[in-house]
Amino acid sequence: MSALVPYVVGVTGGIGSGKSTVCEEFAALGAPVIDTDQVARAVVAPGTPGLAAVVAAFGQDILNDQGELDRRRMRQQVFANPALRQQLEAILHPLIRAGTQEKIDAAGYPYCLVCIPLLVERGGVNRVDRVLVIDVPEAVQIARVIARDELTVSEAAAIMQSQASREQRAAVANDVLENSGPLSALRPQIAALHARYLQLAQAARKF
Ligand code: ADP
Repeated sequence: MSALVPYVVGVTGGIGSGKSTVCEEFAALGAPVIDTDQVARAVVAPGTPGLAAVVAAFGQDILNDQGELDRRRMRQQVFANPALRQQLEAILHPLIRAGTQEKIDAAGYPYCLVCIPLLVERGGVNRVDRVLVIDVPEAVQIARVIARDELTVSEAAAIMQSQASREQRAAVANDVLENSGPLSALRPQIAALHARYLQLAQAARKF
């Protein structure tokens, strides 16, 4: 019914590349930001059909004492079991996609940013109108991740190994923000992209 479908910019990058930081800057300029990690948590919140489906497939043991999904236990169960992982993803991915689309439809702005950490890994590139990649050299990425999270260098490196490479992301990027410098260096580039996305949204006549 509504013609107010926003132009969708998918924001991606490796762990610690600066996706959240960049998205906050866009949000400060007025752009709606949708965080798919947040949607992924919401679809399995207590009382949701999503959590009921996960419990039906994996059993009550997957819940903690508060009746919430125990993510650590869940990860341990699917870690070395691709079939189980596939089963879990078959439950969660359609719910996450629908939840994200709902937020896009409600954005009420010419364009919106959807932060999708695993956009490249999960083959989601054709579900967005444009791809913005946040890129940093691996050494910077590791330094920022271990400063932010309680991870060792080798744990951070292992996560990075499991993710797409910088080259794989660069291959699908429409725009790249190089984030190895200070945030002050990024702000004018973000302002320029914001103006560009508003233009692109208008050109796409989606709003
Ligand atoms: P992501 O969301 O991609 O995992 P974050 O935005 O959380 O990454 O950034 C990772 C860490 O690096 C955070 O602690 C953040 O504050 C910091 N950070 C991000 N960009 C910069 C920057 N340009 N300069 C210094 N620190 C940064």
